[in-house]
Amino acid sequence: MLSDAARERYLRHILLKEVGGQGQQKLLAAHVLVIGAGGIGAPLLQYLAAAGVGTIGVADDDVVALSNLQRQVLYSTDDVGAQKAERAHAAIARLNPDIKVIEHRTKITDANAGELIASYDLVVEGIDNFAGRYAINRAAIALRKPLVSAAVGRFDAQLSVFKPFAGAGLPCYRCLVPEAPPRDAQVNCAEEGVLGAVTGVIGTLAAIETLKEILKLGESLAGRLLLYDGLAAQFRTIALPADPQCPDCSAIARD
Ligand SMILES: [Zn+2]
Repeated sequence: MLSDAARERYLRHILLKEVGGQGQQKLLAAHVLVIGAGGIGAPLLQYLAAAGVGTIGVADDDVVALSNLQRQVLYSTDDVGAQKAERAHAAIARLNPDIKVIEHRTKITDANAGELIASYDLVVEGIDNFAGRYAINRAAIALRKPLVSAAVGRFDAQLSVFKPFAGAGLPCYRCLVPEAPPRDAQVNCAEEGVLGAVTGVIGTLAAIETLKEILKLGESLAGRLLLYDGLAAQFRTIALPADPQCPDCSAIARD
């Protein structure tokens, strides 16, 4: 049973017949790992915490820089120099003290990804390097955890959900990006710049897809890629089939 305070806090969810009190209980029982507490992670963490996702892991080994504040809306000027995972924890605690936050002040690698992900129901990542993305993808497939993956570049963003184990034809991240592009072709917001609000758009959409996966609501983005073009003010969704040659998911068991 929800407490009176919880009923009031989550009333706008409870009023949705697709969510209701039962859906809210599911959110409160959910364990979600957010990898990357940056431009995408900031609004994502805020919405997951506000929504009452009961246990949130925050994985980031970075400290808040002044140049982060243009888009990483979870942090304030006073936070510059402090650990992101710790400041994210503090911000979430102010927003919703019901949430249990677990700080992981570490960079994700093949060596630690499995151990990090194992105790969570679902993983969301918004990081800026391919080695980390591949490590997360492999571990999420091995542990059969859905992976919500978001990326931004300059004025554009993309989002998908990867759970190749959930059905024939569903892709993983490696199906989308078989090999990391050469260093000079990688769009890196540290070098190329990014319109801050674009990270907010895609981080918020990542929160919606995460909540949908937990609540089993609507149509999953698995098997599709959502593309946002900020300059054209356009969204597109394209089909994203599994690559039958994919080294990471072609041999796995599918439901
Ligand atoms: Zn694959």
